[in-house]
Amino acid sequence: MNDFDYVIIGGGCAGLSLAYKLEISNNLKDKTLAIIEPRKQYKRDKTWSFWKVFNHNFEDCVIKSWNNFTINTSEGSRELINKKFPYQSIDSGKFYEKINLKLSKNPNVNFFKNLSEINSENSLIFNSVFEGELDKSRLWQHFQGIEIEIPKDTFDDGILNLMDFKCDQRNNVHFFYTLPFSKNKALIETTWLSNLNDQSLMDYDLQLENYIKNNLGIKNYEINFKEKGAIPLFHPSFKNDDKTINIGSAGGLTRLSTGYTFLNIQEHTEYIVKNINKIKKIKTFNLGKKYQFLDKVFLRVLEKHPEKMPKIFFNMFKTSSNTIIKFLSNKSNVYEDINIISRMPKLVFIKALFN
Ligand SMILES: Cc1cc2nc3c(=O)[nH]c(=O)nc-3n(C[C@H](O)[C@H](O)[C@H](O)COP(=O)(O)OP(=O)(O)OC[C@H]3O[C@@H](n4cnc5c(N)ncnc54)[C@H](O)[C@@H]3O)c2cc1C
Repeated sequence: MNDFDYVIIGGGCAGLSLAYKLEISNNLKDKTLAIIEPRKQYKRDKTWSFWKVFNHNFEDCVIKSWNNFTINTSEGSRELINKKFPYQSIDSGKFYEKINLKLSKNPNVNFFKNLSEINSENSLIFNSVFEGELDKSRLWQHFQGIEIEIPKDTFDDGILNLMDFKCDQRNNVHFFYTLPFSKNKALIETTWLSNLNDQSLMDYDLQLENYIKNNLGIKNYEINFKEKGAIPLFHPSFKNDDKTINIGSAGGLTRLSTGYTFLNIQEHTEYIVKNINKIKKIKTFNLGKKYQFLDKVFLRVLEKHPEKMPKIFFNMFKTSSNTIIKFLSNKSNVYEDINIISRMPKLVFIKALFN
């Protein structure tokens, strides 16, 4: 059986980002890498969006960037503009294609379907796969999106709609998200923050159909692409031994209050590759104790008072666009944190602190 210097378990976003960075930094010239990935073929399966608060390696996979975004609640609408940190969407199909093409040129990189096909005893292992089943009774962000194409130019493709709470909440937190890729093409998602046991929230097709017809006023459309997902808004326990580094969602890289993970994965990747020769000896990368604490309190409020959330989100977005973007992208300073925290309903948050 073959031995490898590095093994990546899971060739998804985190696994392939790491393999790509190792390759372009010339770390795989005289080292071998095995990627364990069970999928039969790579195709577009997700759209990764985020505020670009630092440069990344996948600018050529960006479908579109926006400088303007809106949030809508029954209290009103607010538009924010930011030229410094555009919001970007990445086509996962292009991302997989770019990376796999690059890796295919290096004979030191090999794909396997199962870890049992190789000898990983002496390898440094990067794991992006959750251990066991995750708890469905905890809080998740679950959603379904469709990319629709319409015959007439209708969308304002200069503005994305980050959260539209003007929809049925069913005693949970629910919003729609619209990314207009062009004047006649948009990704529209229905998103819930709830546990995963309540099947009644998962009539996503019907939710999307009604929203597109009644809220967007669109009758005729074709569906180009569909994506569906559930992101745990908790960090499950990690595999921990002296030769495994956990990466991606399974490595705690999801920002729990938002579900954003893509750019955190890129930052972690940079950290790993920069320190590859001492990675097991140095501090484990994390998103910062400050955000872990604030998100924990925020999610407690969300679970206890889902009905308050549209207003809470709306108030958060009343700050400057720089402040809210940096806060949600884990790049805020203490003044920006205070600015956001001061907009929260005090009593509810103080109570959540002691729960
Ligand atoms: C539909 C969807 C949309 C998302 N949109 C956004 C977004 O807009 N912005 C954002 O920041 N985040 C988003 N996320 C969250 C996060 O960025 C993604 O889930 C991202 O793909 C996480 O990367 P990962 O490598 O941890 O997991 P994955 O990309 O899921 O990779 C894990 C890989 O492991 C493989 N695998 C599974 N079981 C095994 C096994 N037993 N052995 C080996 N390999 C295995 C899988 O096939 C997969 O390729 C989204 C998530 C989903 C599901």
